[in-house]
Amino acid sequence: MSAPLGYRRVLLKLSGEGLMGSREFGMDRAVIEATARDVKAVVDTGVQVCLVIGGGNIFRGISGASQGMDRTSADYMGMLATVMNALAVQNALEQIGVDTRVQSAIPMSAVCEPYIRRKAVRHMEKGRVVIFAAGTGNPFFTTDTAAALRAIEVNCDALLKATQVDGVYTADPKKDKDARRYETLSYTEVLAKDLRVMDASAIALSRENRLPILVFNMHGDGAFAGVMRGEGRYTIIE
Ligand code: UDP
Repeated sequence: MSAPLGYRRVLLKLSGEGLMGSREFGMDRAVIEATARDVKAVVDTGVQVCLVIGGGNIFRGISGASQGMDRTSADYMGMLATVMNALAVQNALEQIGVDTRVQSAIPMSAVCEPYIRRKAVRHMEKGRVVIFAAGTGNPFFTTDTAAALRAIEVNCDALLKATQVDGVYTADPKKDKDARRYETLSYTEVLAKDLRVMDASAIALSRENRLPILVFNMHGDGAFAGVMRGEGRYTIIE
């Protein structure tokens, strides 16, 4: 069975901050477990799912650099942070019976598989959730760009970007009561209006390869599964 939106293979991008819950740092186990249940609900419909998880709840290269660290070293630390998040989400998924594989862009053979595109596709065909860790493996990138890159490489039908609000707004809805939510947006509009929903390289890559991006709110039980059923509120960038 495929989802009403018609997507058969999707990539879900979770930010590291999304795993913090109400904490200031690190991971909230309850949030991770709820996320795992949400992913399972989608997998159970027969949709193939892969994940990219950020690392901002643990370390961001830019903040290391702002304190005087060499930017490349700081970015490698950020990439390692995403591996910790990937292992946490893998564990939660496996505890509820979802087969998973973590593939890292930085080989770490004692911990997980290296990123191998054809293997990732095969895992998904077998119903396994593949978690892509360590971003693109290169400093000066973000996990948003890694998400667009992997989604395109493994032929996903869409990239679902989980955020703290239910789509893309004309202004920050937490600060401006007149902020209006877009139902749809073009990639070019996102870039031209400098709507900072994802970084410009992720948007440009998606535009070039016609990868639709759905921006939705991950809060609330079953938000990802809801969007995959075509329910709830979200903005589509295409
Ligand atoms: N990072 C990187 N290259 C990549 C992906 C990530 O250098 O391809 C580093 C970068 O320092 C970034 C950190 O990993 O700040 C964590 O990723 P990100 O900030 O994208 O996480 P999120 O904001 O989604 O939690």
